[in-house]
Amino acid sequence: MKRIGILTSGGDAPGMNAAIRAVTRTAIAAGMAVFGVRRGYAGLIAGDFIPLGARDVGGIIERGGTFLGSARSPAFMTEEGRRKAMAVVEANGLEALVVIGGNGSQTGAHHLSQMGLPVVGVASTIDNDLAGSEITIGVDTALNIALEAIDRLKTTAASHQRAFLVEVMGRDCGYLALMSGIAGGAEVVAIPEAPCDPETMARELRAAYDRGKSHAIAVVAEGAKHKASEIAAHFREHHERIGFELRVTSLGHVQRGGAPGAFDRLLASRLGAAAGDLLSQGKSGVLVGLIRGEITATPLSEVAGKKKPLDLRLLDLARLLAQ
Ligand code: ATP
Repeated sequence: MKRIGILTSGGDAPGMNAAIRAVTRTAIAAGMAVFGVRRGYAGLIAGDFIPLGARDVGGIIERGGTFLGSARSPAFMTEEGRRKAMAVVEANGLEALVVIGGNGSQTGAHHLSQMGLPVVGVASTIDNDLAGSEITIGVDTALNIALEAIDRLKTTAASHQRAFLVEVMGRDCGYLALMSGIAGGAEVVAIPEAPCDPETMARELRAAYDRGKSHAIAVVAEGAKHKASEIAAHFREHHERIGFELRVTSLGHVQRGGAPGAFDRLLASRLGAAAGDLLSQGKSGVLVGLIRGEITATPLSEVAGKKKPLDLRLLDLARLLAQ
């Protein structure tokens, strides 16, 4: 019986559990034995495995995060760490691995694949910056959480003459900030790919009031050039000249938590099942993703080390629709 491992790696994303469940049950149905690897690549190196039966993955589809745990493993970034992981894999008789995670995790998956281990990646990160999938597991839920916060802040912003800055996740990628800015009707969006200095932000928020708006919301990615704290300090320092207050709300890890929505559960179920199917057909070395509505398998060599660029035309759309 073929023995396969599953791990979740990098930042946790809502829907990872649904993906674990789908891989497990598809693989078991195809006659494979499944082992969960705890704490991502750190657990792979440590040999922290648990057998997974169909019942062990019951009651998790509705839970956020990942019940296997995730980790960032500096040891796995080294050749020595990866060799150690391969030795542990061999010692435990694992013949294949499913890696559920984002950019860095899939680069690690590619390394293992090059070392001779059959690996299938499943696209999962709230950043949506992974090449090989137009949308990744967790993005939709994280966006909806950010949106709910923006909607609520808009209500209170409209009641007082107070502008709000909402800081959303995205260290290197502005996808969440830009999309939640468009969907939430924000007046200004600042992302790593397109900086906005505090003075420009003040001018644009003032212009929104001048156009007769009752609220003014800026959405800023945590990795934007000018950080939320810097912008807030600028508003405090020049309060009299700017003429209104800016309140900062940092959503932080709140965006990751919570139950995955229908979209992420379905995406994770489809991608996880596809990963299980591929392994049962003896195929590997690919990332399973969604492109033009179809489940696709892109070679890990085309995914590793690459970042899917953000469509910056959407920034113009955000500006236009905020008029
Ligand atoms: P997210 O961006 O959603 O947090 P991610 O998968 O991109 O997900 P990373 O922290 O970049 O998260 O990577 C997760 C883990 O993958 C790292 O801790 C490391 O163990 C492994 N990894 C990352 N980059 C590489 C690399 N270049 N080579 C080998 N392993 C890597």
